[in-house]
Amino acid sequence: MANLMARTPRIGLTTYGRNDDDRYSLPIEYVDSVRRAGGIPVLLPPGEPRLDEWLTMIDAIILPGGGDMCPTHYDGNAHDKIYMVDAARDRDELTLARHVVDTGLPTLAICRGMQVLNVAFGGNLIEHLPGEVGKSLSHRGADRGPISHAVEIDPGSKLAEVMGTTKCEPISMHHQAVRKIATGFKVVANAPDGTIEAMEMAGHPWLLAVQWHPELTAADDPAQQRLFDALVARARGEA
Ligand code: MN
Repeated sequence: MANLMARTPRIGLTTYGRNDDDRYSLPIEYVDSVRRAGGIPVLLPPGEPRLDEWLTMIDAIILPGGGDMCPTHYDGNAHDKIYMVDAARDRDELTLARHVVDTGLPTLAICRGMQVLNVAFGGNLIEHLPGEVGKSLSHRGADRGPISHAVEIDPGSKLAEVMGTTKCEPISMHHQAVRKIATGFKVVANAPDGTIEAMEMAGHPWLLAVQWHPELTAADDPAQQRLFDALVARARGEA
């Protein structure tokens, strides 16, 4: 008799690269958000020689936040504010970004993850926001820490449908942003200063990318938690 019980969705998450203390890490809020949504987190440290085999273990993927991509990937300029560049992480995540678009794997891209997706498909990035968009609005707090700012979401977007809102004021912690959006993607949210805050891809079964950090407030904010809930539901074959 066939087992009619679907397995618990396994959600792949890439981690930060090897640090100066020879450790890999990922902020706990990503793991907590996936568990609250009913998924099992499966972490992937950068430098995996068998990425294709790891992909067979997961039902959906989260591309999390982290340090900056090397600007050579998008013909960008060197900038003294670019930090924590990790060649192995860039390489693995660019490969994963192409894979999720080729295969339709359900995907939630967060902060750096959104930037990786954009670069993987020919878009580019603003190397350092404060130098270009002025100081009317901060996207990152002191010491690369959190801050919050308003975001306006396109009412017709998948993102608005999933979150159940067209406005939010989430935690923001980025100093780079999408400059030219990649072919095939569309902008679905902006900050009051015009900065691109979310994008999605028409034709992909479930791919959402946000520049803010839903995991940091998801425990107390149902609209942010719904991003994780909907990803896990999709991985389960619902929605
Ligand atoms: Mn922002």
